[in-house]
Amino acid sequence: MRKVAKWGLVALAWAALPAHAEWVKRVTDGIMGTRITVELWTEDPAKGGQAIDAVLDEMRHIDETMSTYKSTSEVSRVNAKAADGPMHISKDLFDLLVTAKQYSEITDGAFDITYASVGYLYDFRKHVHPDDAQIAKALPAVNYQHVLLDPKAQTVRFSQKGVRIDLGGIAKGYSVDRGIQILQGLGFTRAFVGAGGDSRIIGDRFGKPWIVGIRDPRKGEGNVIARIPLENAAISTSGDYERFFDEGGVRYHHIIDPHTGHSASKVRSATVIGPSATRTDGLSKTAFVLGPDAAMEIYNRLDDIDAIIVKLDGTILYSKDIQRALHGPPPVSGAAPDPSNESSVPTDPKN
Ligand code: ADP
Ligand code: MG
Repeated sequence: MRKVAKWGLVALAWAALPAHAEWVKRVTDGIMGTRITVELWTEDPAKGGQAIDAVLDEMRHIDETMSTYKSTSEVSRVNAKAADGPMHISKDLFDLLVTAKQYSEITDGAFDITYASVGYLYDFRKHVHPDDAQIAKALPAVNYQHVLLDPKAQTVRFSQKGVRIDLGGIAKGYSVDRGIQILQGLGFTRAFVGAGGDSRIIGDRFGKPWIVGIRDPRKGEGNVIARIPLENAAISTSGDYERFFDEGGVRYHHIIDPHTGHSASKVRSATVIGPSATRTDGLSKTAFVLGPDAAMEIYNRLDDIDAIIVKLDGTILYSKDIQRALHGPPPVSGAAPDPSNESSVPTDPKN
């Protein structure tokens, strides 16, 4: 009798769901040079498909506007002209330049879109890197304060010649947020949008969180060091394994230290979790430039941010809220927490 009643309940619950509600997922390569994944729950798969089209169209538009690989993009025109005088730019680009500057300030200059003033001398696919003389010549142009923004006139100007910007460190996160905004505007409440290392989630998977894996920086794709349950959150991972080549014992990779012009190699990977993908993208490069401890200090200072850093020796450093979730509250001894107690566990799952 009890069993019948139970099945009756289940049948009722199913009857309440619309006939064709389902998860619709699409994976697309080639926009912003990366893999885009969009997945959503929809009661109308045709509408779900159209919504995904709208997200991808917006990402193509962002790519057209902001890619430095396209000579006709707005950012390429800024790079060609902004040292000559103020240049009127679109509202979207202006706002993102303002945001980028804020991340430079939050990260003590580790995040800096003018890294491109030396960054353009690298070609990771062709294994090309600048020599010391070339770096020394280009380096004075690297400084986010060279980018002068006038909100009234909506113009950008570079304070000197040689300055170049590249939004590769924030545009993917930004495009993920734009994708999520489009889906929310269309009424979707459960969705995932990912662009390369930057993803954002709205809602859950019906009582269960989404699970996002963090890749082991020294193993192939699919090997994870942690699986993070997430709802209504963004997550960005930066890694020294993304675009790189090794030469003479040195790893040349795509995150550049704005202070030296060399690849920033103080950690293997950094994952940042927060409310928006623009924010997590803007913060995930910091650990490479400042090192694990200084970066973790910044992440811990930001109330809405969590982080997981894989250090050069392969151990993992967690932000304080994740540590607490893993190990419970710190002992109440009255003493200030000892930084050497920070959770550092080996990456290798065998240990
Ligand atoms: P992904 O491109 O996979 O999202 P990241 O978020 O780690 O990877 O961003 C790496 C990109 O950030 C580089 O390819 C480059 O365009 C840009 N970049 C490199 N160094 C810096 C820096 N110091 N500040 C801001 N952006 C940077
Ligand atoms: Mg990114």
